[in-house]
Amino acid sequence: MIPNESLYADEQDLGPSVERPDKPEEACGVFGVYAPAEDVAKLTYFGLYALQHRGQESAGIATFDGATVHLHKDMGLVSQVFNEGILDHLPGRMAVGHTRYSTTGSSLVVNAQPAVVETQRGSIALAHNGNLVNTLELREKLRQRNCTFETTTDSEAIAIAMGTEVDKGKDWLEAAISAFQLCKGAYSLVIGTPEGIIGARDPNGVRPLVIGILPGNPQRYVLASETCGLDIIGAEFLRAVEPGELVWITEEGMASFHWAHKPRRKLCVFEMIYFARPDSLVHDETLYSYRMRLGKHLAQESPVDADCVIAVPDSGVPAAIGYSEESGIPYAEGLIKNRYVGRTFIQPTQSMRESGIRMKLNPLKDVLTDKRIILVDDSIVRGTTSRKIVKALRDAGAKEVHMKISSPPVTHPCFYGLDTDSQDQLIAATKSVAEISEHIGVDSLSYLSWEGMLAATGSDPNNFCSACFTGDYPIEIPDQIKRSKLMLEKLKA
Ligand code: SF4
Repeated sequence: MIPNESLYADEQDLGPSVERPDKPEEACGVFGVYAPAEDVAKLTYFGLYALQHRGQESAGIATFDGATVHLHKDMGLVSQVFNEGILDHLPGRMAVGHTRYSTTGSSLVVNAQPAVVETQRGSIALAHNGNLVNTLELREKLRQRNCTFETTTDSEAIAIAMGTEVDKGKDWLEAAISAFQLCKGAYSLVIGTPEGIIGARDPNGVRPLVIGILPGNPQRYVLASETCGLDIIGAEFLRAVEPGELVWITEEGMASFHWAHKPRRKLCVFEMIYFARPDSLVHDETLYSYRMRLGKHLAQESPVDADCVIAVPDSGVPAAIGYSEESGIPYAEGLIKNRYVGRTFIQPTQSMRESGIRMKLNPLKDVLTDKRIILVDDSIVRGTTSRKIVKALRDAGAKEVHMKISSPPVTHPCFYGLDTDSQDQLIAATKSVAEISEHIGVDSLSYLSWEGMLAATGSDPNNFCSACFTGDYPIEIPDQIKRSKLMLEKLKA
């Protein structure tokens, strides 16, 4: 079931209450900690709590107490899945955690992670962020080795592949590397074993993974999808795990292995624009700073006369501030977000619909009335939410609405773990900028150029995946996967 992100209770013309959200859905958050004598379950809980934005369907923690694995996972937010009593029953020296949005496999508790697989030398617990593009081929290979599956996820297939290599007599690291060599696609992994924790990224490094150190002696290491997962437990950011690198964390410390033949840097640029938290560090600066620069580039590329700059909160805020600074047009809050509205499956009442109560964003009439507004957002994917927001601004008295998007038009789907739509659902794949402008009801619409988006990174543009803007996929996508995504989207629509 797809969650309801409807902005208004009264906009039934824009779809049923289970309408799909406009922005890409989350991928997943992974976390791992090796810290004997610490409450590793609690550290993992807080790490996942900080990574909650990466996945809100299910959460899980596996702790290792010698050869014994203690696992708890369930559907829901981290704060709903765990309480003090449950955490007290997760003892150990190390832990692996996961918060999930289903990009492959159904939204069922059996598919929640970490995926635990038994081997002849003890269990492994695997937490995965990303998507494989050869899952069917991998599962077929594993079936030929007489493996059976409990879930439909690519993540379980990676864990089983590693388990079969362990059972052939390989050590944990050799087994992991052999398993990775069977995988194609995007994977940032944290894998618990009875002897230590593995952190690894695929040879393109599409999804992030960082290493931190807890204060104290001896050094105790932490792995997290983003640095915000380190900050919350007081761990110091050490560095990112490199594409094609495996780190092995044990009581002896951390060792690093570069196992991929031709690693490349292809970090998902959408993580930078929208998905990762603005307080997380990428290339040693916060994404807040990067997103402000996107706004500045946008102001240089597409100036317009207006009275104030407002953002679609929260993700459009840094770019709107950047636009304002560069253009000299004042920034104001024009939309107030109800931060306590989660996803709801409950239909609003008829009277709520009739009175047009805003569920999530409420416009500030005092700021908007008779004003020429520049509205900044980070992206438009389907266009449904943008149209509702523009209507809200006009209803509140805005005289003109000029929409500025701090990324290029999204024209292609993602196969690497961000749940963007299939191509026919992406508004920029089927409509020109003028047609989108008319569809969402703005006076003008401008996107940041692809060059501007990458120039703002301050890095080599080749260091990023930007395939959803160009169709230039850094990892080949089999036709079968393209077709199955289309079928899945049709079922969801
Ligand atoms: S296709 Fe887009 S969303 Fe997917 S990894 Fe590449 S840049 Fe990120």
